Amino acid sequence: MEQATLFQEMSLKPEPLREKNDVQYFHLAAKTILNSCNTCRMPNAVTLNPYRGCEFGCAYCYARYTHEFMELPWGDFERRIFVKTAAPGILLRTLDVEKLRGKHVAIGSATDPYQPAESRFHLTRRLLEVFAQVRGLSISLTTKSALVKRDIDLFLKIGERNDFRVNVSLISLNAALLRALEPKSSTPEARLGALKSITEAGVPAGVLLMPIIPALTDSERTLESVIRAAAAHGAQYVHGRVLFLKDSAKRSFYEFLKRTTPHLHSRYSRIYGKRIYTSDEYQREILSKVKRLKEKYNLNQRDKEFEPYEVVDHTGNLFENQCDRTRPTAAGEKM
Ligand code: SF4
Repeated sequence: MEQATLFQEMSLKPEPLREKNDVQYFHLAAKTILNSCNTCRMPNAVTLNPYRGCEFGCAYCYARYTHEFMELPWGDFERRIFVKTAAPGILLRTLDVEKLRGKHVAIGSATDPYQPAESRFHLTRRLLEVFAQVRGLSISLTTKSALVKRDIDLFLKIGERNDFRVNVSLISLNAALLRALEPKSSTPEARLGALKSITEAGVPAGVLLMPIIPALTDSERTLESVIRAAAAHGAQYVHGRVLFLKDSAKRSFYEFLKRTTPHLHSRYSRIYGKRIYTSDEYQREILSKVKRLKEKYNLNQRDKEFEPYEVVDHTGNLFENQCDRTRPTAAGEKM
C-alpha cells in the first residue's frame, strides 16, 4: 500500500484521546485486526496488535518502523500511541475459526498488549473475550507487563477450548539494567510474580529470553539466573534468541549504548555494522549455552513458534542464515 494511502486510511485525529505526562493516545481507525504473516520467521501465523506504538520503549525494539512508516519520528514510538478502539468489534465480526485452523494466532507480536494504555482502554481484555467464545485455535500472547495477571480468568476460559499460552518476556534479573533498556516495562520481580500467578492458576506459560544482548546479558551467569527463575516460577518452557538490530532499532539502541555503556559503542559498530545479526559462531555459542541450561532446568519443551530461532542443527546451520540469504556474512568476526 502506498504510504499516503495508508496514512489517510488511519484517520489520525488531531485531538488525542488522552494525554498523560509526555504520552498521547490517538484513535486509530483500523479496518482489519488480524494480519496474516507467512514469513520465513513466522510461518503460517496470524498476528494481532491492539495498539500501534509501545510506551515501554525498549531500546532494541525493531517495531519502531511502524511509526516511521506513518512518517512520524522514531522517538514518537513510545510517546504517541495509536489505539485500535474498534478492534474487539472487528474481531467479533470477522473471526473465521475455519480459516484459522492450522495457523497460530500471536497476540502482541509487534507491540505489547499490556502496555500502560491497556489499563485505560481494555482492548486486549475485550479481544480475549471474543477468543473465549471460540474453539480449536492455537493462540499465544507475549508481554513484559505484570498487568497480564489481570486476565487469568479469561486465559482459563480460552484454554478450556483452545491451545493457549502466555509468553512472559524477560532477559535479565538486573532491574537497573532493564530500567535503562526497557524503560517503562514491569520490573523483573513483578514479571516473575505475574508468571507465578498465571502458572499456579493452571495456565500454560513460559519465558522468552529474547533478545540476548551481547556483552550485557549473554554471560552464563545471567542466562542461568533467568532460566532458573523461570523454572522456580512455574514456566514450562524458555526460548532464547540473540539480539538482531534492524535499521529501525539501531538508532535507539546506539543511543542507549552511548548513554549507559559508551565503551561498548565501537565494539557494536564493528560487529553489527550494516548487518542485522551477530556472527554465526557467536550465535551458535550462545544458543548452545541456552540449550544446555534449559536441559538442566527441564525447560526444553519444544515449540513450533520459536524453535526455528533456536536451531543449531547437526550441520551447524543457523535458521537465521536460511531465512535471510541476503545479509552480508560476518566471517572472521566474533562478539
Ligand atoms: S515491549 Fe515489545 S513492542 Fe514494546 S517497546 Fe519493548 S520490544 Fe517493542
